[in-house]
Amino acid sequence: MISNRNIAYKITINFLILFFKTILFSNQEYSQYFVTRIPTQEKIVFLTFDDGPGPWTKEVLEILNKHNIKSTFFVLGELVKYRKDLLKQIYSQGHEIGIHCYEHKNFYQLQKKQSLNEVKQELIFQIEQSIKEVYDSIGIKPRYLRMPYGYYRSWMDEYLKKYNLTVINWCFGFDWQNITSAEMADKYCKNLQPGGIYLFHDGGQNRKKTVESLKIFIEYAIKNNYKFGNLKEFIK
Ligand SMILES: [Zn+2]
Repeated sequence: MISNRNIAYKITINFLILFFKTILFSNQEYSQYFVTRIPTQEKIVFLTFDDGPGPWTKEVLEILNKHNIKSTFFVLGELVKYRKDLLKQIYSQGHEIGIHCYEHKNFYQLQKKQSLNEVKQELIFQIEQSIKEVYDSIGIKPRYLRMPYGYYRSWMDEYLKKYNLTVINWCFGFDWQNITSAEMADKYCKNLQPGGIYLFHDGGQNRKKTVESLKIFIEYAIKNNYKFGNLKEFIK
């Protein structure tokens, strides 16, 4: 027999769980088109690089090659236009190519000044132009999008579906901070976790410290029996 007291207790507990879930997640948007980590307990992590192709891309490629790691590069269409050979090199080495828009536009700022319809038109332009540049240089249509500054809103789902894209954000990224490469590496190492997607940069500015911390992070992950995965095996 289940007593009334038990039922009241269960209802209270369920209410409390719902209450805290609402508070915790009310500011986050969830969607099948939006990923920040791969749900797994396996010791596998994913490296991603933004803002290239740029002057630091070759050094990054060398490090990845040395450890036979396949990663994802989120490239800017306006740079691909002038660095087709570099994009070809990234792709020929087995890395995935995602788009980071055509220009490095800040949609957080844009949405403050423009109507939603104008912002949507801008998104369409950025997506179509960057897909075009990638397609013109390596003949593939990218499947992944990372917006500048990690922008994402659920209204984008309609366009993500239309262009067959998934937004890939990150669970940890810290290489734009004004700290030493050792401090930078330490932050990444402390945030090593199964299924983690890590953000680094191979363009935008001097990335010497990124390159140094990337080397340390990779070696730390390997020493801790982690493998480096390829996103396309997990996100179809
Ligand atoms: Zn960026």
